[in-house]
Amino acid sequence: MLISLVVPCYNEEEALPYLYNALCDVRKEVTNHEFEFIFVNDGSRDKTADVIKKFASEDKDCKYVIFSRNFGKEAAMYAGLTKAKGDLVAIMDADMQDPPSLIPSMIKSIENDEADIIATRRVTREGEPKIRSFFARMFYKIINKMVEVEIADGARDFRLMKRQVVDAILDLNERQRFSKGIFAWVGFRTKWLEFVNTERVAGETKWSFWKLFKYAIDGIVSFTTAPLRFATYLGFTTAFAGFAYLVYYFIRAIILRIYDVVPGYPSLLCFILFIGGSILMSLGVLGEYIGRTFVEVKRRPIYIKAEESED
Ligand code: UDP
Ligand code: MG
Repeated sequence: MLISLVVPCYNEEEALPYLYNALCDVRKEVTNHEFEFIFVNDGSRDKTADVIKKFASEDKDCKYVIFSRNFGKEAAMYAGLTKAKGDLVAIMDADMQDPPSLIPSMIKSIENDEADIIATRRVTREGEPKIRSFFARMFYKIINKMVEVEIADGARDFRLMKRQVVDAILDLNERQRFSKGIFAWVGFRTKWLEFVNTERVAGETKWSFWKLFKYAIDGIVSFTTAPLRFATYLGFTTAFAGFAYLVYYFIRAIILRIYDVVPGYPSLLCFILFIGGSILMSLGVLGEYIGRTFVEVKRRPIYIKAEESED
């Protein structure tokens, strides 16, 4: 069997040599299969492109795709999966946070037909700021309440998949990609491997808090329309409250003939603020979805490649 290992790389010149050595060890260990290593350079600003081209010139199992600019990890993974020819395909980070040493046992599991996908999750979030872990946990709680598929907390993109699964993922060629959701959505039998988080071997993380926050919104909006429904509920509640209030004053004035209401300034203000707020919120939610529709209908490519190794 041919096994493809896909590695998205953004400013990873320091980490890549370690990873390459580790991948070569894997290749030596698993002798009954062929390998190809696919490096996707996601518009790095350092010498990543030169490093992977050098690998390719010295090792025929190394292939590469070079982007014209930074398109993000999701696009890089998509490009890698598109290029991969393997019967089994794995995705892994360049920084060794996804231990390559797990690959041989992952391959065995698939050979024993234990599952179609061997996925991994971190059981700890060590080496990560506390506040970030807290928001990450909260994100998984919220999203799992809203979407119909189960998105596992701590799931990594590191996974080994059968060809069938890869083709299914490539079929979902939407532009705003949220892989954790896409992986869950395509289904198939999944076996989870757990491992302890390790620090990256060199360089630093490419995810700022803000980038992660935007990613979280992407995840929710691309996998559920629940927020739209929430806006509808809120509209209903507000309208009903307004109506009840109206009836209340009507009865007071017409039937009970109580005229003590001083010009209803405070209540008026409350209502205006409440209704105004709800309208703005609903508009915001609508805007998220319309914006996304806009991006999808433009049908732009997910990435643009500047260069690619020969097959
Ligand atoms: N990455 C990428 N494009 C980006 C950001 C990251 O291809 O715009 C790659 C990066 O090179 C690494 C992987 O995605 O191989 C995970 O990134 P990182 O280690 O910075 O994320 P973390 O492990 O901190 O979540
Ligand atoms: Mg990392």
